[in-house]
Amino acid sequence: MADFYDLLGVSRSASADEIKKAYRKRARELHPDANPGDPNAEAEFKELSRAYKVLSDDAQRSRYDQFGEAGVGGGSGAGPSMDDLFGGGIGDIFDTFFGGGGSPFGGGGRQRGPSGPPRGQDVEVIVDIDFAQAVFGDQIPVELKLPVRCDDCDGSGAGSGTEPVTCSDCGGSGQVQRVRQSLLGQMVTASPCTRCGGLGEVISTPCPTCRGEGRVTDDASYQVDVPAGVDTGSTLRLTRRGAVGPRGGGNGDLYVHLRVRPDERYTREGDDLVTEIPLSIAQAALGTSLELETLDGTEDLVVPHGTQPGREFVLRQRGVPHLQGRGRGDLKARVRVDVPTAMSDEEVRLLTAFAEGRGERVGNGKDGIFSRIKSAFS
Ligand code: ZN
Repeated sequence: MADFYDLLGVSRSASADEIKKAYRKRARELHPDANPGDPNAEAEFKELSRAYKVLSDDAQRSRYDQFGEAGVGGGSGAGPSMDDLFGGGIGDIFDTFFGGGGSPFGGGGRQRGPSGPPRGQDVEVIVDIDFAQAVFGDQIPVELKLPVRCDDCDGSGAGSGTEPVTCSDCGGSGQVQRVRQSLLGQMVTASPCTRCGGLGEVISTPCPTCRGEGRVTDDASYQVDVPAGVDTGSTLRLTRRGAVGPRGGGNGDLYVHLRVRPDERYTREGDDLVTEIPLSIAQAALGTSLELETLDGTEDLVVPHGTQPGREFVLRQRGVPHLQGRGRGDLKARVRVDVPTAMSDEEVRLLTAFAEGRGERVGNGKDGIFSRIKSAFS
């Protein structure tokens, strides 16, 4: 089945209003009464209805965003039937859209006109986390300033002792409706009420704290679960944790962009971790055994003789857990060979003897070590 957002033709960050509008438009085009005898239209309409049912419900939408269709229960067969949704002919469809009766989608919260107070804005915040927190996941505090509900008026915007009054022009619906005839029969068009700005209510005495807006800017703090395997650029979406809308409007979403502090020992290549093993010339040539530090503790590593710089030892499943799916990346330990710079006379003598024995020319006659090489054989 197609992506729900694609079915509705909206982006993944679409507001509830945009989703509702997109649904209305598509539903009118696809409704069976407008396409008699076209089974494709009916099937598409059912899918569309199911997509809307999920995306118009905050909890279900959030699960869908995280887990896809598996998060909202089964395939397209599980969708509600046409009768469940609309119970009858095309006349009912407009009641559903425009709040004429009990909505089969369930509204929840205060019953307002369909435009109602607008939802608050989405808010974005950048949070720095440690390398290990990104790898293993953690719960982190996120603190920010954003518009929150005004406590003094409980979000209504009305001054103490007063209440918002139902707008007399639109009767509280926030919309002025007009009925006209069209090819499909009666069409109802609605536009926001100009007197109350679509809010359905007017305020005579604004709350002094929020100046009638129903919200104030304040500190907010959330505990946010960071899943294992995130990286710089990962974004967590917290549904309805963004700014509150004016005068009782719903909350926008909060987007937490993660930035991972670098680690001294490890760099990331996707879900693989890369670290360096520093070896001396002698260790690389003769082999050694060492304890390699991993994020899960130390591991014994046997370095064979004749190990070249850049050689990679791969420890399976010791990298970063895959954010999606099971398992982890690998830990790649790359060999670096350190050439000694400060050497004792004895070391110079031994290394020179080693080179002479292999017929290699050493020393350039220009720096200090040359005299020590000469004196080593005088
Ligand atoms: Zn207030």
